[in-house]
Amino acid sequence: NPTFVECDTLVLGAGPGGYTAAFRAADLGQKVVLVERYPVLGGVCLNVGCIPSKALLHAAKVISDVQEMAHHGIRYGKPEIDPVQLNRWKQGVVDKLTGGLSALARARKITVLHGIGQFAGTHEMDVTGKNGQWRVQFKNAIIAAGSSAAKLPGFPYGHAALVDSTGALQLDSIPEKMLVIGGGIIGLEMACVYDALGAKVTVAEFSDGLIPSADRDVVLPLLDRIKKRYEAVLVRTRVTKLEEDGKRLIATFDGNNAPSEPLAFDLVLVAVGRRPNGASIGADRVGVFVDEHGFIPVNRRQQTNVPHIYAIGDICGEPMLAHKASYEGKVAAEVIAGLKTEYDAMTVPSVAYTDPEIAWMGLTEEQAVKQGIPYEKSVFPWSASGRALTMGRPDGLTKLLWDKKTGRLLGAAIAGTGAGELLSETTLALEMGCALEDIALTVHPHPSLSETVMFAAEIGLGTIADLY
Ligand code: FAD
Repeated sequence: NPTFVECDTLVLGAGPGGYTAAFRAADLGQKVVLVERYPVLGGVCLNVGCIPSKALLHAAKVISDVQEMAHHGIRYGKPEIDPVQLNRWKQGVVDKLTGGLSALARARKITVLHGIGQFAGTHEMDVTGKNGQWRVQFKNAIIAAGSSAAKLPGFPYGHAALVDSTGALQLDSIPEKMLVIGGGIIGLEMACVYDALGAKVTVAEFSDGLIPSADRDVVLPLLDRIKKRYEAVLVRTRVTKLEEDGKRLIATFDGNNAPSEPLAFDLVLVAVGRRPNGASIGADRVGVFVDEHGFIPVNRRQQTNVPHIYAIGDICGEPMLAHKASYEGKVAAEVIAGLKTEYDAMTVPSVAYTDPEIAWMGLTEEQAVKQGIPYEKSVFPWSASGRALTMGRPDGLTKLLWDKKTGRLLGAAIAGTGAGELLSETTLALEMGCALEDIALTVHPHPSLSETVMFAAEIGLGTIADLY
């Protein structure tokens, strides 16, 4: 028999959307129940997403930076990599953060129920866990059940050499040859890790280019670098067949640039996108509209078509990013608490933490063209940045897009070391309605990579045109 629990707000899923919503709701005086099927809080992001991948990417960057030092006259030996210790360190980072979340939940007197949640009525959810069964009665619910890795049909799932991003983050050993199917952010980040660790990497992307949602200009520096380092970077290429061959997998390719013969790989990562978990929580049974992909549409107050049931994060739409989820979590919690809050972010910045990093926000040039928005643009190449040159990494660029009439910033795209950090200045500028002049007339420290944002603005205004 289930234990009955009552609350003001039930939150389903404890990822960055769910825990942020639960904390904010509790801080605003709500009695909160947080339901999570995994034994720890943090969701995909903390456990098998943003955080473990960035821990490994940091290690990868150190290895490739050290290799680059050979050009500066400093040589180190071949790195000795202990995957067990590397994994332990990565897991330590994750544990620290998930442990911190549990403490924050306890401090707020949030009831955390570990089990699978399914809607049982418009104000009821059944939770089935290892340590008990609960029926939770709620006034309001926030669905934050996230997304899962998409699969390709017909592949031999279950074979040890076939992994999704979670398997790739496990890093049991370093394969000799690795195939990454999917040239989006997640696939390229993992490719970057395994390349630095010594694997021979092949990337196969079905569409015309890598990271399709990013501004094309900023993808080029990444493409240039990985083309030199990887075994192959194949676009417009589809993997049509994947067959078992003992411990290895044999891939057959199709497309313009595709290898004509099937190739053998020790590890194959499928990173072809993520599917929202909307269809697996019983939401449709209580009248919540779930679309054919599994997304749950919401209004600007994060309400679904059933007004006391809200949805946030990956499950309610693109972009599937942690900071979008947590922003929406705050909106939902505040709306429930009666505050006059709604979603009004002007943009959600995106970053691929590859080497070089690719970061963009606001309009891309492709979107501006497609939507017929009159714009102007300027590009500052990092080969003219003193800071980038002193770092031995002139392979970057900073690009700004602005409104022709008002001069207001419309978008920015940056490629290069630390691009993800640099982007925040442009995101703030967009939110503040800054014109190009505001950026150009802001004194930036010299020499710094952040200067490239100012230089791009000055080029746009024509005030440093003589430099080129
Ligand atoms: P999730 O984090 O997916 O959390 C949902 C939670 O709900 C999960 O814990 C799940 O167990 C739980 N749940 C689902 N159904 C039920 C149920 N029925 N009952 C109980 N619990 C349930 N984003 C970034 O912004 N930056 C990055 O650098 C980044 N890197 C990534 C790297 C990888 C490898 C991956 C896979 C993703 C990455 N992402 C990154 C995306 C990011 O992880 C997601 O956008 C984010 O986690 C979404 O948060 P969420 O709260 O919507 O859902």
